[in-house]
Amino acid sequence: MIQRISKTIRTKYTGVFFMSLFATIAETVLQLIIPLLMSNIIDLGIVSGNRQMIFQQGALMIALALLSLGLGLASARFSAVLGNGVGTELRDAQFRHIQHFSFAQIDRFSTGSLITRMTSDVTAVQQAITMGMRMLVRTPIMIIVAMFLAFSISRELSAVFFYSIPILFAIIGVLLVLVAPRFTRLQKQIDKLNTAIQENLSGIRVVKSFVRADYESEKFDERNQKLWEVTEKASAIMVIAMPLVQMVIFGSTIAILWLGGHAVYRGALPIGKLATFLSYVNQILFSVIMMSVMLIVVSRSAASGKRIAEVLREEEEFDEVQMHGDEVISDGSLSFEEVSFRYHKDGHRNILEDISFRIHSGGTLGIIGRTGSGKSTLVQLIPRLYEVDTGTIRVGGKDIHSVSPVALRDAVSMVLQKNTLFSGTIRENLQWGNEKADDATLMRAAEMAGAAEFIRRFSEGLDTMLEQDGRNLSGGQRQRLTITRALLTEPKILILDDSTSAVDMATERNIQEALETSLPGMTKIIIAQRISSVQNADKILVIEEGKIACEGTHEELIKTCDIYESIYRSQTWEEGANVS
Ligand code: ATP
Ligand code: MG
Repeated sequence: MIQRISKTIRTKYTGVFFMSLFATIAETVLQLIIPLLMSNIIDLGIVSGNRQMIFQQGALMIALALLSLGLGLASARFSAVLGNGVGTELRDAQFRHIQHFSFAQIDRFSTGSLITRMTSDVTAVQQAITMGMRMLVRTPIMIIVAMFLAFSISRELSAVFFYSIPILFAIIGVLLVLVAPRFTRLQKQIDKLNTAIQENLSGIRVVKSFVRADYESEKFDERNQKLWEVTEKASAIMVIAMPLVQMVIFGSTIAILWLGGHAVYRGALPIGKLATFLSYVNQILFSVIMMSVMLIVVSRSAASGKRIAEVLREEEEFDEVQMHGDEVISDGSLSFEEVSFRYHKDGHRNILEDISFRIHSGGTLGIIGRTGSGKSTLVQLIPRLYEVDTGTIRVGGKDIHSVSPVALRDAVSMVLQKNTLFSGTIRENLQWGNEKADDATLMRAAEMAGAAEFIRRFSEGLDTMLEQDGRNLSGGQRQRLTITRALLTEPKILILDDSTSAVDMATERNIQEALETSLPGMTKIIIAQRISSVQNADKILVIEEGKIACEGTHEELIKTCDIYESIYRSQTWEEGANVS
């Protein structure tokens, strides 16, 4: 990935790079010539009263100054184009790359941090390139050539450099050592802030309904304060350094005026040369400062660059070869053989332990269990959203690691517990399941999922616009649309993770019956809170703390499984009606 992006950048921006390089070098050279003209004007023109000389050299000086201005603008423009271009490429590359991340990889980085890496980290790199292109080229040339010219004007005065430059470098060195590590901390702090912002904004409704706004604001303040502290510390060091640097510069200027004044008085140095010498001194010392500012900007961007590289270096979940394997999964049978899993590989507790069961193709598997017992985790292993640690899962008789992920995910369709709809029309949302499906196909699937009736009731039907996350629909309508979307992929195995919790029991039964009669060959896995949702399943698993506590049909479990029986009793009690 990193090679690919650096190749793209090279092919796209080499031209701009060299133009910027040329403009910067030319500008610098002109700025070095101009002081020489000045000494001519003073020594040959003013001192000897040669007016023609003054006008001639003066005109040349103005022309060169204008040219240098033009080159400066061009150099700034090209380097900005380069910086922006590289920034855009980096953002784009990260975004594309993240699309291929597994759930585990996204968990590891956290969404907030991924956002920081795509925004503020990229901006830091972009700035470093834009500034660096100019400064890192300009300052070394400036320092070396100006020193050479200054030396040729007066060796005696140049001695001042032997003191001032090492002192400047020492100050800057200390600065760098102190400041650089703080920038890594700074970006981490921005991560945390972004996470807080992102969680709060995407969950703002929950925050409000739980009247947690104050708590959230406090959490935000705390992180914002922390960010302020970290930034403050970084800039405090810079604040101390600046007066020191200025002292060195003023000290040097005074020393040169003192020594140079004596030399002019003795007649050893023309006054124009002293003026030229002074402007070189300014250019040199100013360049040294610019260099140090640049080093700070670069060290900050290095921290950011590393964080961007971490994202890009992350291996794609499946490589190209795997993606395009062409194996076909023949049927929807499913088996788990001694499967164990945990989210954090360093944690000691298994979230799932020693899970074994099988369900025949076309069968219905119900999964029930307390919240947090591991139901969602279990089904997410089937399409390899997370990878098992030990044990084997077989779909259609084949180990899921031996078939291509594309074939696997074609065969297994899952309605996630946290379902998501995107802003756009209902049709666009459903076509995620099958791009080529026409309206008749869409409505047929909607019919099975119990969505057809309300879609027809909307005056614009399939063209009804959904807001972000389908906010303009009821919870039950959203669920039925996501089931429709899953059905459109024509899966061999359909997983419904708590997907009918928001529809009434009659509608739920209709959906289940429609699936049973229209798609008898499709294996159905139904996770539910209500026993009534899984009552008719061929097999029901009761999950308790990541293990299968009981397994069997409704009738068997009622008799043999205490947990099941007690859940059943509590629910029939609550609902009053459904006593069989
Ligand atoms: P519910 O009925 O509430 O949906 P569940 O049975 O589906 O619960 P899971 O979502 O499978 O439960 O979670 C099982 C355990 O794994 C919980 O202890 C949970 O904290 C943990 N867990 C779930 N997702 C993650 C994740 N992405 N990273 C780390 N731990 C997780
Ligand atoms: Mg769950």
